[in-house]
This record gives sequence, C-alpha cells and structure tokens, in this order.
Amino acid sequence: MKPLLRWVLDSVLPPSCLVCAEPVEAEGQLCVNCFRRANFVTAPFCACCGVPLNISAPGGDASQLCRACESFRPAFTIARSALHYDDTARRMILPLKYGDQSEASAGLARLMRRPGENMLQAANLLVPVPLHAARLRQRRYNQAAVLAIALARLTGRPLGLDALYRQRRTRPLEGLGEQERRDELAGSIVMKQGMDVQGKRVLVIDDVMTTGATAHQCALALRAGGAARVDVLTVARVADPRLQ
Ligand SMILES: [Zn+2]
Ligand SMILES: [Zn+2]
Repeated sequence: MKPLLRWVLDSVLPPSCLVCAEPVEAEGQLCVNCFRRANFVTAPFCACCGVPLNISAPGGDASQLCRACESFRPAFTIARSALHYDDTARRMILPLKYGDQSEASAGLARLMRRPGENMLQAANLLVPVPLHAARLRQRRYNQAAVLAIALARLTGRPLGLDALYRQRRTRPLEGLGEQERRDELAGSIVMKQGMDVQGKRVLVIDDVMTTGATAHQCALALRAGGAARVDVLTVARVADPRLQ
C-alpha cells in the first residue's frame, strides 16, 4: 500500500486486533477474546526443541526431552515458540504473507519476546530461515525475514537477513518422517560467503516449526561456519509432529 494512502487509512480507521476486526488500543495487539483463545506454549515442553509434552509430571522436570530429541539431538541448542500452531495462530501469521503488515509483525515479535527473552538477550545475530529464490519470487515475502526484522527493531539485536540461503529446491516436507525430512533437506541450506558468525550466538527466526528439520539444517550451516551456539525462536509450534 502507498504510504500516503496507508497514513490516511490509519488516521481514519481505529487499530484492529491481529486476528479479527475488533478494535484495539494500538496496532499489533490482540483483542480480549482472541487473547483468551490464543493457545500459548506452557510447560511441560521438551528442554531442547520446545515441543509441548503430553505428560503431567508433578513439579515438572525442566530437563525432560521429547522422544525425537532423545533419539536424535538437533544441531541447535534450544528452540522455543510463543503459540501452539492452531487456527488462531494461523490467522495471526497469515498477514505476514503479504509483507506489508508491519503492525502484525511487530505484534507477533512482542509475543515471541516472552518465550525468547533470554535467547534474544544473548543473541549476537538474528537470522531468518531462508526461502529458495524461486519460492521468494512466487510468494514475494519471506515470512521469517519479516519477523526477524520486527524482532531486530524491537530488541536492537543485529540482523543477518541474508546470512543463510537455499542452494537447491526441496520437495514439500508434509507427510515425510523425521529421517526423511533430514535426508531431503541435507545440504540444502548454506551460509553466504563472507558472512562472519565465528564465535557468535545466532538466533534463527521462523514463523512455524514442525519437526525442527529445517531449523536443524540452518544450525548445521551456522555451526559449520563457526557459530558458538544456535538457538531457534518461532511464532508457533506444531504440537506433536508425529501426529501430523
Ligand atoms: Zn480479536
Ligand atoms: Zn524435543
């Protein structure tokens, strides 16, 4: 949208909820109903990949790993998400596809700050999960990059927008098992030449995490480039990828 038209509309229309049309006090907020409906990720979750665990351990065991991380430890250290990936989360993420929604991305960045507080503070570099150039031309916007920009703005952390790229296209991962996903993605994500991540703590940003296979590839590339540690922060998390 043209900036002037945007300005005129913004000054006429009251700000609306991230999900529905309900008016809210400021852009990027959730209305009371949508906030209630938002399904935030809470303990217990996997100490590594952050997937919500279907256990009700009294007192909670903060070092508990999910079955997937027990059998294969990913190259990232910790992954966390703000929300369960459900219909409300889907509707919140949707505006990012049209890239022009800076208020939506600012609102989502604020939601991500809660589970990502420590990781964001420790991060030397925020890096979005890359889209293949052909997909980017098709879609026009990389949702992960839109979020990384919003998080960098919110926290002042340095941004490595094109630190990673996809050197080949991969087929859709839906319906593939964990090992098949890793095989399909192997070597597909690499670091840009001349990018310096030596000794840095890198935080990889994405909209949705399913099994973490893509995040694992990003972490492999960054660790190979010398990153000291890689963590992952996403808006939403598919609750139990093995059931999808
Ligand atoms: Zn709402
Ligand atoms: Zn896990």
